[in-house]
Amino acid sequence: MKPLCVFVFLGTLWAAPNRAPLQAGAFQPLALTSVMPKGWLLEQLRIQAGGLSGHIDEFWPDLGANSAWLGGGGEGWERGPYFLDGLVPLAYLTKDPVLIAKVRKWMDWALDHQQADGWLGPVKNTDWWPNYVMLKALTQFQEATGDARVIPAMERYFAYQAKHLDERPLKEWAIFRWHDEVLSVLWLYNRNGDRGLLDLARKLHQQGHDWEAQFADFKTREKVTRQQANLATHGVNNAMALKAAAVWWLVTGDKGDRASLYQMFEALDRYHGQPNGIFSADEHYAGRDPSQGTELCAVVEAMFSLEQDLAILGDPVFGDRLEKIAYNALPATLSADLWAHQYDQQANQVMCSISNHRWATNGPESNIFGLEPNFGCCTANMHQGWPKLAANLWMGTADGGFAAVAYGPSEVTSGGVTIEERTDYPFRESVTLLVNPAKPGTFPLVLRIPAWAAGATVALNGQAQDGVQPGEFFRVARTWKSGDRVELRFPMAVRTSTWYNNSVAVERGPLVYSLKIGEVWHQVKQTGPATDWEVYPTTP
Ligand SMILES: [Zn+2]
Repeated sequence: MKPLCVFVFLGTLWAAPNRAPLQAGAFQPLALTSVMPKGWLLEQLRIQAGGLSGHIDEFWPDLGANSAWLGGGGEGWERGPYFLDGLVPLAYLTKDPVLIAKVRKWMDWALDHQQADGWLGPVKNTDWWPNYVMLKALTQFQEATGDARVIPAMERYFAYQAKHLDERPLKEWAIFRWHDEVLSVLWLYNRNGDRGLLDLARKLHQQGHDWEAQFADFKTREKVTRQQANLATHGVNNAMALKAAAVWWLVTGDKGDRASLYQMFEALDRYHGQPNGIFSADEHYAGRDPSQGTELCAVVEAMFSLEQDLAILGDPVFGDRLEKIAYNALPATLSADLWAHQYDQQANQVMCSISNHRWATNGPESNIFGLEPNFGCCTANMHQGWPKLAANLWMGTADGGFAAVAYGPSEVTSGGVTIEERTDYPFRESVTLLVNPAKPGTFPLVLRIPAWAAGATVALNGQAQDGVQPGEFFRVARTWKSGDRVELRFPMAVRTSTWYNNSVAVERGPLVYSLKIGEVWHQVKQTGPATDWEVYPTTP
């Protein structure tokens, strides 16, 4: 009798790879909860859950029980969806039952109150834009829970939109953020194969702002004046658009779209770049002077864009940039207990005070730490930063492998394989990967070697590997068995770079150093459990 041959698949299981005629993309983000935080990163998410993210709905009216996104008469625009876009991954990555119950309350309302014609969310909202964000929250929720209501609800909503876009075209914010909805349209297309969705994506693109044209001939090379400021010079719009050309390349396969993305990064760096990896925009383009600011929404949106760019184009340069923003600009603008944030942070920041700063358009409160300094958008939107970083540290490769696109303590599980990443990165130079397949299996590990890591080494079960190059992905393909161990070392030499007015930034690995200035925090306002603070220097 012929023995049965049983194939056991081992490697990353993609929930839904890009379906033809879409471009395949370099990597595939793994379904939410495939990558779980560990070590200091899990601790950071727990602090976040204990801070504003886990409590803001208990006292901030715009996210309270009266939100129109919960059926009340209150705020019914972007704030509910912004909050959910971060609360969903935070809840499922911390497995916090209280936060999961909160997520369910919001999701149940949205999914159980869809209109008969397909409209989602509050009836009083007539703007397409907030729904872009709600769709991002819904796709994450579906990945984490498999909730059977999500895909049919999205199908009904997109059918409604396709029917009404001509008579009620995109306006204002929706024009400049079209790519954020196209991501969700493609997410659904990859699951149901409905080609009509690609027509909807083309219509969104056609009604949307042409970011590629803006950066083919980039004119805004200095801080804008109030008169010059418009939605094309707006910082958060630009941060969201840092994925527009890549997302559109998935649809067109046109090399020009890929090139355009690099053109955008290059122009923003050249005219508005800051040492912490982000560009200035307070809240419009503000030039290279490090006393100009960057809005927190732009920081978390740039991170989300970079996570998409990594998946789509697979260029390690986006991983370097993601870490630089995540490990510098993001923590710099949040209090350590994650109860207060700034609207605008500055690379060169000596005082956080209610006073006349030189912002392009923002108000006098913009760089104090608090609940909603200047404006409450960041109060609702900031929650996505840390959890989405954790969820995107690992991605799948087209040949069933795992790509480490950014580093942090974590564990990835997919297709019968678990890889534990033990590290104190970015505070230490070493990363240990413990590979644990259910049965021996063949798949590649694709490891990002940061461009700054001269002398980086990779050792497999104690054997040094040849051909490790900074600024590239290093690939180890073999038959893996339980107990295999990969050790990475990224030497973090101190280096300097020159910036505005011959100023110098000091960097080590992914970290940008700051001068320790003595500080005193002055309470200026109390709102429920949240305090607003000015911060004054006590040393030169
Ligand atoms: Zn904001």
